Amino acid sequence: MSKHLVVVGGGAAGFFCAVNAARMNHFLKVTVLEKSGKLLSKVKVSGGGRCNVTHACFDIGEMSRNYPRGNNFVKKAFHQFFTTDTIKWFEERGVKLKTESDGRMFPVTDSSQTVINCLLNEAAKYKVDIRTNTEAVNVRIENHRFLLK
Ligand SMILES: Cc1cc2nc3c(=O)[nH]c(=O)nc-3n(C[C@H](O)[C@H](O)[C@H](O)COP(=O)(O)OP(=O)(O)OC[C@H]3O[C@@H](n4cnc5c(N)ncnc54)[C@H](O)[C@@H]3O)c2cc1C
Repeated sequence: MSKHLVVVGGGAAGFFCAVNAARMNHFLKVTVLEKSGKLLSKVKVSGGGRCNVTHACFDIGEMSRNYPRGNNFVKKAFHQFFTTDTIKWFEERGVKLKTESDGRMFPVTDSSQTVINCLLNEAAKYKVDIRTNTEAVNVRIENHRFLLK
């Protein structure tokens, strides 16, 4: 039986998860459910419309100290995917990042739309099924299967 990944929320986290899952497993059907009519709307306004993608910090200990309430959690995550991975991920998809004097990293275009377009292109490339105006209201487990409504 083929597996189906349903991602709830068409924001930055949902899209990044969906496009990478679809890319890494071509047999996986991936669907994004977004309750509003808009995709990646917070990314659009992030960083004053420029999208502060990451920070030029290449030390996991130093970076995680900036998350006082989630230090241990982010440290584990950073060991899987850190700043250099983020820079490489976007660069491989044509989004070059630049570093400002305070360490913030933005697309060289200074436009969050560049990041949005990259994620939308990636979703199209890997045939992620995107459903807007679709809210997940209930998740149940029945016979070892997730049932979503
Ligand atoms: C003004 C502003 C500027 C920011 N600037 C930056 C920045 O420069 N750099 C940075 O890294 N971060 C920035 N942030 C923070 C960043 O936007 C958020 O951390 C990021 O968007 C969070 O992404 P997310 O996918 O977790 O959540 P969201 O972007 O909130 O996405 C969640 C999505 O899930 C949908 N949803 C929720 N419940 C359901 C449901 N039951 N069914 C279906 N869909 C559902 C929502 O409609 C939403 O679209 C900024 C935030 C704001 C508000």
